[in-house]
Amino acid sequence: MMDREVRVRFAPSPTGPLHIGGVRTALYNYLFARKHGGKFIVRIEDTDQQRWVPGAEEYIFESLDWLGIVPDESPKSGGSFAPYRQSERRATYSDYTDKLVQSGKAYIAFDTPEEIENMKGVMEQEGAVKPQYNSLMRTRMRNSLTLPPEEVDDLIARGVPHVVRIKMPVKHDIRFKDLIRGSVVVHSSTLDDKVLLKSDGMPTYHLANVVDDHLMNISHVIRGEEWLPSAPLHVYMYECFGWEETMPEFAHLPLILKPDGKGKLSKRDSQKHGFPIFPLEWKDAESGELLLGFREEGYFPDSTLNFLAFLGWNPGDEREIFSLDDLIREFSLERITKGGARFDVEKSRWFNEQYLRMRNTAELAEFIKNYALADSMECDSEKAEKVAELMRERVTFPSELYFHAKYFFTPPEAYDEKVVRKRWSEELAPIFLDYAGKLKDQSEIDPETAKQLLSETAESHEMGMGKLMQLLRVSVTGESGGPDLMEIISLLGPKEVSYRIESAVASYKQSEE
Ligand code: GLU
Repeated sequence: MMDREVRVRFAPSPTGPLHIGGVRTALYNYLFARKHGGKFIVRIEDTDQQRWVPGAEEYIFESLDWLGIVPDESPKSGGSFAPYRQSERRATYSDYTDKLVQSGKAYIAFDTPEEIENMKGVMEQEGAVKPQYNSLMRTRMRNSLTLPPEEVDDLIARGVPHVVRIKMPVKHDIRFKDLIRGSVVVHSSTLDDKVLLKSDGMPTYHLANVVDDHLMNISHVIRGEEWLPSAPLHVYMYECFGWEETMPEFAHLPLILKPDGKGKLSKRDSQKHGFPIFPLEWKDAESGELLLGFREEGYFPDSTLNFLAFLGWNPGDEREIFSLDDLIREFSLERITKGGARFDVEKSRWFNEQYLRMRNTAELAEFIKNYALADSMECDSEKAEKVAELMRERVTFPSELYFHAKYFFTPPEAYDEKVVRKRWSEELAPIFLDYAGKLKDQSEIDPETAKQLLSETAESHEMGMGKLMQLLRVSVTGESGGPDLMEIISLLGPKEVSYRIESAVASYKQSEE
């Protein structure tokens, strides 16, 4: 058990649709909180007004809701550390930069972007490689470290735009332990004097993030690896504020890589290969671009969760099927991999197939009935359940239970040409019509009898059953593959099948002429 109450947060910025990597971060935080009897908090980091995208926050909550990742505290559900939206906490942050300026850990800077660029140019000419606003450059800029106090006061009084920057010490080792990566030591000379408070009075990500993690009593920061470079600054800020005692522990999650393992998974991969990397569909308001969503593609929430959990974590043995409760029980940060996690589309499909097969027939039948209804086809529960049973082992997504089985609802409009070309010959016509005739006499038929009847028909024409089966399937369904043909015949009923065989033979004959 942990000594401290576990309080973790998922802190997305509503700058667009939540990427699947973000969902994984939310999931790992959630699992960690539940495992340790702690709290899972969702905090919306919306201080960057320029990058704020309408609908993005709603998208985040809808995604979590779909997956059943329920926050204990959030802007929606509230909590004792409210508000949980940083834009609603904006008044808080400048008090903290005031404190840092007073204690000499931060300073006020008046430089315009042009002045900064010019100085970088000058320093490059002097031989500096990639100069940045740091302990060296700050001595040559217009800030409260270089200007007399009266001038600073005067500039502020006159409303000259200014920011607050952290004052990185010249020589200081910043150390912390990452629960996944181990010890990290960064020398302060490699870090720049990041802006904490912007000229519009809004905090930057770094300030708001650290202050809120502190105020919300966050025990562990579990987030994507892209934030690892920011961690030394954050750790240093805890030192500056004197909050070392309650500083959270850090765990930076591995990147999610492209299916071929080469490079970070991107939106372009999704568009190019037609697989989703977003939990829900998202239409970009400006470009009109439609991004695919796991939900709309037909993934189940439980299979998506299982798949996501395995993108960077595993239980250490062969088991793969984990419900959310199983994951809560087994999850540990120790078992998170250090290397990037390859996004394996085939695996995501495999998980969905397993979860589809585990669902009960009535539930699958419900999908079929709904798709049939939307397609103006009649389908009662009994039929839907039979189709569900025949199709469940053969599909990946619920929609395929219907769309890959349309021949249960309507006669084929075309026949698999390859099979017809290979198998059809004029001499088969009387055999097929004979079988059709025998079926017509029945009002219903079970699969065994349908087979028996076919075998008798074949025998009486001195033809092997093997020569008939594939073409018979195509004649009844239009397709070369599918569940057991005799089951299909039985479910469609002898009269319908008889009619389909006659139509198929007529069509084969016609195309011969
Ligand atoms: N707002 C940051 C993001 O969008 C949060 C990073 C963090 O968890 O510290 O990912």
